Amino acid sequence: MSETPSITNKASKPGIVWPTFLMLTITPAVSLVGIVWYQLAVGFEWHHWVTFAVVAALNGISITAGYHRLWAHNAYKARAPMRLFLALFGAAAFQNSILVWASQHRRHHRHVDCEEKDPYSARKGLWYSHIGWMLRHYPTNDDDFSNVNDLQRDKIVMWQHRHYYSIALIMNILPPLFMGAITGDYIAHFLACGFLRLVYSHHTTFFINSLAHYWGRQPYTRENSARDNDLLAFFTYGEGYHNYHHLFQNDYRNGVRWWQFDPTKWLISVCSWVGLSYDLRRTPRFKICEAMVHQQLSSARQKMAGQRVSDKLRSYIEQEASQLATLLQEWRATREQWFVHNRDRLMGASAELHHSLELERKALRSKIKELEFSLQQQYQRLRTFNLTLATA
Ligand SMILES: [Zn+2]
Ligand SMILES: [Zn+2]
Repeated sequence: MSETPSITNKASKPGIVWPTFLMLTITPAVSLVGIVWYQLAVGFEWHHWVTFAVVAALNGISITAGYHRLWAHNAYKARAPMRLFLALFGAAAFQNSILVWASQHRRHHRHVDCEEKDPYSARKGLWYSHIGWMLRHYPTNDDDFSNVNDLQRDKIVMWQHRHYYSIALIMNILPPLFMGAITGDYIAHFLACGFLRLVYSHHTTFFINSLAHYWGRQPYTRENSARDNDLLAFFTYGEGYHNYHHLFQNDYRNGVRWWQFDPTKWLISVCSWVGLSYDLRRTPRFKICEAMVHQQLSSARQKMAGQRVSDKLRSYIEQEASQLATLLQEWRATREQWFVHNRDRLMGASAELHHSLELERKALRSKIKELEFSLQQQYQRLRTFNLTLATA
């Protein structure tokens, strides 16, 4: 006989996920007490902290370059040795298997900010999006691998998924054990590079789900809560450029500007020089700038809606919007020509035809550069306009 759910049952919270709860409470407690006690009783040495930093970086970058950009987003492809390395050191971060992590993350992107479908929806609060979502059996956490069929064909992903707990445990024990055997300081290495490093790896990743949806700027889109934040990028191996990432999730770069700190992007790039990674996906510069211009236009419209401004200013913004539409149309046509041109080149050509194709290639390239330049100028004009409007 089926029971009618009572109001109390409906309102009660789902049960606690005890293994996660215990891990996320015991590891910080042991770290805190153990580190303070050891420092006072014996004292740490430089090699304890170097090992901590190296292993933390290996874990962190395996999550960002592997779990996130490679497996969750297919932003590039990687050869088996690189995938194996990322799967091993990613497991050491104790953030679940690649398959589970990537499946949840794809749902996060698809339903970002939706309270019913985004597993770590920022709308449910900072605590929930940081850690709360993992501590209870919320329905949004139920395994549903229908969105990771591609990953189920990756042998390394499936091997790691099947043996996740053993791999994670071994990968957590090996570095402090190895360093302990060399230096004789087992306790210090287990405290620093074992416990504290795990806590650090956890929370730096969790910050992307929480703080990177609360704190920072939104230069590319305001349609979701994701933000760009340089400080977060520094601690998260480049993942802090989350506003860009949510709009262009298949780009292997998160910090797309040359000056933005994104060691994950540099690592993927360097690996491509030696053939370990390939097919790196990049969003065309024009599309990035187009998003920024759109953002400035909508910001200008929003500001003008709350102010008394002349019809001249309103019509100026509409002129800029129509110029953007024209530039976009021209860019699409030029890109189309570019693809046709590349196909012709690949099909092979006589020496004479090859010469004319080369000239066409140069002309198309300079046309694309010209359109990018016009768009950048438009962005600067609108930015100045918005700044003036803000101070008016
Ligand atoms: Zn996000
Ligand atoms: Zn992502």
